[in-house]
Amino acid sequence: MKRISVFGATGSIGQNTLDLIGRDPDAYQVVVLTGASNVDQLAKDAIRFRAERAVTADPHQYAALKDALAGTTIDCAAGPDALIEAADCPTDWTMSAIVGAAGLAPGLKSLEQGRTVALANKESLVAAGALWNATTEKHGATVVPTDSEHSAIFQALIGERMSDVERVVITASGGAFRDWPMDKLASATPEQAATHPNWDMGQRITIDSASMFNKALELIEAKEFFGLKADQIEAVIHPESLIHAMVGFRDGGMMAHVGPPDMRHAIGFALSYPNRMDVPVARLDFTQSSQMTFRPADETRHPALALARRVMECGGLSGAAFNAAKEVALDRFIDKQIGFLDMARVVEQVLDRLDRDQALSCDAMTLDSVVHVDHLARDYAKTVSI
Ligand code: NDP
Repeated sequence: MKRISVFGATGSIGQNTLDLIGRDPDAYQVVVLTGASNVDQLAKDAIRFRAERAVTADPHQYAALKDALAGTTIDCAAGPDALIEAADCPTDWTMSAIVGAAGLAPGLKSLEQGRTVALANKESLVAAGALWNATTEKHGATVVPTDSEHSAIFQALIGERMSDVERVVITASGGAFRDWPMDKLASATPEQAATHPNWDMGQRITIDSASMFNKALELIEAKEFFGLKADQIEAVIHPESLIHAMVGFRDGGMMAHVGPPDMRHAIGFALSYPNRMDVPVARLDFTQSSQMTFRPADETRHPALALARRVMECGGLSGAAFNAAKEVALDRFIDKQIGFLDMARVVEQVLDRLDRDQALSCDAMTLDSVVHVDHLARDYAKTVSI
C-alpha cells in the first residue's frame, strides 16, 4: 500500500488527485490531507479516505475542523507551522498542490524526507528553483512535475540525454481573452478572466492563464526543473490545448506530448511513476475531423512573457520577487483595485525597484533569503501606484 499525503487537497489539483485515489482505495493509505478555507471539504475527504491527519492552513478554522472531525480518530491541526509538521510525516508519495508561495516551505520539508514529490505548485520552482533543486539532490528525493506542460516535457525526455536537447516549446491555450482585441483588455473584469476555454482549474491559475502569467511562471519553472538556458525555452499559442509541450533535439527531431486537457493524466503519471496506471481521461479520436493550430505568443500583447524572460536571464532572487509581486497584483485585480493590464505593470515596477536596490542577487539561496525578498516584493506591490 502506498502511503500518500495531499497538500492542497481541497483545491482543483487536490480533488483530481483524490478522484484517482478513490478509484483504487485499497492501493493507498492516506496519511495527511490539507486545505485552508474549505474545512467542510477537508473534513469530508479526511473521513472518506480515513486520513491520519487533516490540517487547515488557517488557524481561525481550527475549531470548525475539530468539530467536523469529532467522533473520529483523525488528528487535526491548523496554521502554517502545522503544515510543515505534517510534511514531516513519513509517506511514499506527496502531492504538492497548495496554491502560491505558501506551498514552498511544506514542499521543501517533504523533500527532506527523500520521498517522491509530485510538484503541481509551480511557485516553488519559480521562487526558489536553486534551493528546491539543491534540497532534492541533498536528500535523494524524486520530483515528478505535475504541471501538464512539464509532465509532457518530462515524458518526452524519458530515455534521452539533456545534452541532446536543443529547445523546449511550451504551449498556451491563450486563456479567456485570446481572441480579444488589445483595447478591450484594459477593461476586462476578474469574472471574465476566471473562465477558461479548455481547462477546469482553480480561480487564481485561470486568471493567470488569461494574463499569461501562468505561462510566464511555467517558462521559469521549466528552466529550473530541466536546467535549461533562457534561450532554449519558448511559448507558443495553441488554442486546442492538445499538444502540451514539445522537445526539440540536436538532430532536428521533435517529440510532442499529445493528450486531452484533463489534469488527471499528469497526476496519474506522477502517482504511478515510474510505471503507468489506468487513468479515466477521454481518449483522442484522430478519425474525427479535428485540427491543431499554432500562433506566436506576442510579448507585446503578453508582457508577462517578457517579464519571465527577464527573470530567467537575471536569476538569483528575481523569481521570488516576480512570483510575490504577481500574487499581490492578482489579489489587487480580483479586488478591483487595478485593471487587468496593470498586473504586469505592478510586477515590472517591483522588479525595477528591487533590482535598483540590489535585492535580487544572492550567492547561496536559502529559505530566509527567499522569504525576505518575497516580503519586500509584496510590500511594494501592495502600494505601488500605476
Ligand atoms: P486551488 O485554488 O483550486 O486550490 C489551492 C489549494 O491550496 C486549496 O487546497 C486551498 O485550500 C489551499 N490553500 C490556499 N491558500 C493556502 C495557504 N495560504 N496555505 C496553505 N494552503 C492554501 O488551486 P489549484 O488546485 O488550481 O492549483 C494548485 C497549484 O497547482 C498551483 O500552484 C497551480 O499553479 C498548480 N497547477 C494547477 C493546475 C490546475 O489544473 N488547477 C494545473 C497545473 C498546475 P482551500 O481551498 O481550502 O482554501
